[in-house]
Amino acid sequence: MIATKGYAAQSPTTDLAPWNFERREVGPNDVQFDIAYCGVCHSDLHQIKNEWFPGIFPMVPGHEIVGTVTKVGSAVKKFKVGQLAAVGCMGDSCRTCENCKQGLEQYCSNGNVGTYNSKGKDGVPTYGGYSNTIVVREDFVLHISDKLSLPAVAPLLCAGITTYSPLKHWKVGKGHKLAVLGLGGLGHMGVKFGVALGAEVTVLSTSPSKEADAKKLGAHKFVVTSDKEQIKNVKGSFDFILDTVSAPHDFNFYLSLLKTNGTHILVGVPPENIGIHPFGVIGGRKSVAGSSIGGIPETQEMLDFCAEKNIVSDIELIDIKDITKAYERMVKGDVRYRFVIDMKTL
Ligand code: NAP
Ligand code: ZN
Ligand code: ZN
Repeated sequence: MIATKGYAAQSPTTDLAPWNFERREVGPNDVQFDIAYCGVCHSDLHQIKNEWFPGIFPMVPGHEIVGTVTKVGSAVKKFKVGQLAAVGCMGDSCRTCENCKQGLEQYCSNGNVGTYNSKGKDGVPTYGGYSNTIVVREDFVLHISDKLSLPAVAPLLCAGITTYSPLKHWKVGKGHKLAVLGLGGLGHMGVKFGVALGAEVTVLSTSPSKEADAKKLGAHKFVVTSDKEQIKNVKGSFDFILDTVSAPHDFNFYLSLLKTNGTHILVGVPPENIGIHPFGVIGGRKSVAGSSIGGIPETQEMLDFCAEKNIVSDIELIDIKDITKAYERMVKGDVRYRFVIDMKTL
């Protein structure tokens, strides 16, 4: 077994703290890499606080993981020691169901294996990227460009693919008016991809102080959702809303901002059911849809697209000892625009 250092929550009511654990030995199809950086996703916080479902504790969060390969199994073909490598939200899946065969491992009919807070095919709990090293099946390890800033690449593995995938699926681009709801980790990547794909992008935000940043990220317009005048001007105007909000919010209000035939794409996962009044969707033949991360082929496509277009995340690099402070700021919406842990500080 491989002795590993990490930061874990021992229960939903305790802060993260140092914790030593073991990872499996590198099997024939496995890649081991030393973790250089790990992004901090709001899903990490939802899960250590049991906001979605009872978690597996101790829990080592982290699914935006980049580093350098240190060991490969005898059957590994795509990776060599010394190369950069990355892992996102999944470490395995059944690889045989209809969804897996189409590269939609995130929708694996037999349940994919989460990078943490999940159990591997061997029944052993998985532990995430707030740690010094990781062992993952080759099929779920991604290639990243050495031309991009490595810490700023880390958030692409979740925030990046989670916003890229629905924009591609719904063919959002030139001629579309896209609203990105919530300017946090996912939201700021949604803006970058929406702009890169040619859409007119409006940020819908609760934070007036983020306007200048939104424009710097490429957004064409910025609307403060509590400002009645500003909202009046965008009623019935969007083809798509990409909803990245992590907390409960009023869907009926946001549906009123869509055009006829508009689609509200949910990627945020607030810990409550969403209350939609029938008239919210009947009037204007509107759709409410959802999307979960992205499959492995599409994640590689997104990473290659980012390398070509020079797209990375805007990050604040932190010491791992400051993780609880970072979570506190994230809950307040004070993220500019992704915290990334420098794993040298572990
Ligand atoms: P984040 O960085 O905390 O960003 C969320 C943003 O939502 C905040 O910065 C804030 O932006 C806005 N917001 C917060 N509370 C709000 C409220 N009550 N009403 C309206 N807006 C509010 O979080 P994240 O890491 O981007 O994650 C966002 C959500 O996506 C989380 O629920 C996460 O679990 C989920 N997620 C889903 C997937 C998936 O596969 N579908 C993948 C990753 C994450 P403003 O200041 O601009 O208002
Ligand atoms: Zn995530
Ligand atoms: Zn499957």
